[in-house]
Amino acid sequence: MKISSLKYALDILFPQHLKCHCCNREAEVNSYGICVDCEQKLLFSANDAKIDGIDAFYSALQYNDTARRAELSFKFNGAIYKKEFITHFIKIPDDWMFDAFVPVPLHKKRLKERGYNQSTVIAKVLSENSGIPIDETLITRIRATEAQTKLDRAARLKNVKGAFRATDECKGKSLVLVDDVRTTGSTLKECALELKKHGAVRVYALTAFSAMEEIKKGE
Ligand SMILES: [Zn+2]
Repeated sequence: MKISSLKYALDILFPQHLKCHCCNREAEVNSYGICVDCEQKLLFSANDAKIDGIDAFYSALQYNDTARRAELSFKFNGAIYKKEFITHFIKIPDDWMFDAFVPVPLHKKRLKERGYNQSTVIAKVLSENSGIPIDETLITRIRATEAQTKLDRAARLKNVKGAFRATDECKGKSLVLVDDVRTTGSTLKECALELKKHGAVRVYALTAFSAMEEIKKGE
């Protein structure tokens, strides 16, 4: 088979691999699906954030325009294959000792609409790579909250207040909350406080992206 016909066959089998996960242009992409132009625009997060109830926080990349383009289709349009990029830069800190990854839960109504929880997709990759299990039974979202993106900081806090319910199975456990994007941290805070109320001894939080840097600039 000629190289050209092999490429043609691969194009049909894996069409998404021909387009950059961020800008969607047809281009040469690297091992995690990003073109050279977009790769240069990706920035690491500062990770200096303190969030109430969270013992330590880690985020891989800044949530800038380049990252956002990939994230939105990953989250809302079923582009689950973009997890190769979304999870590529996540490095779990060496000093975190924990029992399980806990994806920030979606309300069951939202899960039904979307078909998947983007935070679970991320947590599954981390679990496969580390051998540490996922536990989705410890906390559930009991209230379908408004999308946080439309709200300001005060409204975000109010929006997620009392939205989660944990179980006593948390007792004595160290956990890592996993989410796709961290903005004000109000969702992570609310989950962490609920997990600790039910006996979790330590709650870390990890996100693929952090929008905090941009919020600081805009405020
Ligand atoms: Zn690109």
